[in-house]
Amino acid sequence: MRENIDGHFLLIGLMAYPIRHSLSPKMQNILYSKLDVPYVYLAFEVTQDKLEDAVKGMRALGLRGSAVSMPNKQLVCQFLDKLTPAVEMIGACNTISNDDGVLTGYNTDGMGYMRSLKEAGVDVIGKKMTLIGAGGAASAIAVQAALDGVKELAIFNQKDDCYDKIVEIAKRINEKTKCKATVYDLADQDQLRKALSGSTVLCNATGVGMKPLEGQSLITDPSMLRKELVVSDCIYSPRKTKLLEIAESQGCKTLNGIGMMLWQGHAQIKIWTGQDAPIDYVKEKMGFND
Ligand code: NAD
Repeated sequence: MRENIDGHFLLIGLMAYPIRHSLSPKMQNILYSKLDVPYVYLAFEVTQDKLEDAVKGMRALGLRGSAVSMPNKQLVCQFLDKLTPAVEMIGACNTISNDDGVLTGYNTDGMGYMRSLKEAGVDVIGKKMTLIGAGGAASAIAVQAALDGVKELAIFNQKDDCYDKIVEIAKRINEKTKCKATVYDLADQDQLRKALSGSTVLCNATGVGMKPLEGQSLITDPSMLRKELVVSDCIYSPRKTKLLEIAESQGCKTLNGIGMMLWQGHAQIKIWTGQDAPIDYVKEKMGFND
């Protein structure tokens, strides 16, 4: 593939730290090759103290765009020229598009999650969703769900540093969209049971279920999950978390985080190249069908 690179190729970056383990460079470059577009994607180790310079470098070198990951998703917003309404509400950006020197910040995490539901034939528009989590993934999902037309969001999280932030985001959702968002303490299991009984979808957007919390689930009582509930987990490693195991045993339809990851990449490629990336192809190539 490298033999094809000539002077017309455009560079897409990924600014994060640590980042060498990321699957994104492989996934994105497979798709650029398949689409036959003159793009290459490279990961750059960028810590917060280097972020402003990295964005200036992006302008100076004319990168077509960049992905942004931890710990830079919030801080990067202040160095950009424009933010989408979703990014304004979430307060975090994972995708920058450089259009003739104008840098716009997008967030494709929530877009990827909502698209993964749609592709799995799950219709949550006009309905209620229960979301567990209050970090980066949960914030992006909550805002995108509200913007896409989910009618009601019941958000649960433990009372940690993230809790107040998701309360703020819920406030913005209630002010700016037609969705009604309410935040509850995860310790209130009666409230969780009640929320789930009226929900179409449950989404786990916490790290509970992956290392070092692999084998754990925030839902321990299977009777909370009736079989009509769609149970999704943002985690993709392991493919089947404890939560999804419990949900399957109850007869629920389940989704892991692979769809979210692939479709958020699809949204990025659409922003940077205008093309629709063949998600089934990369899923197969990366061994995500197993
Ligand atoms: P984060 O650090 O911003 O948030 C972590 C969340 O987990 C918080 O809500 C925190 O309160 C909660 N949490 C942590 N330990 C807990 C515990 N013991 N009990 C209850 N809650 C606990 O992380 P994030 O970036 O929002 O990621 C959350 C999950 O989503 C991770 O598993 C991550 O791998 C996954 N994720 C998946 C994708 C994807 O494309 N599939 C994208 C982003 C994140």
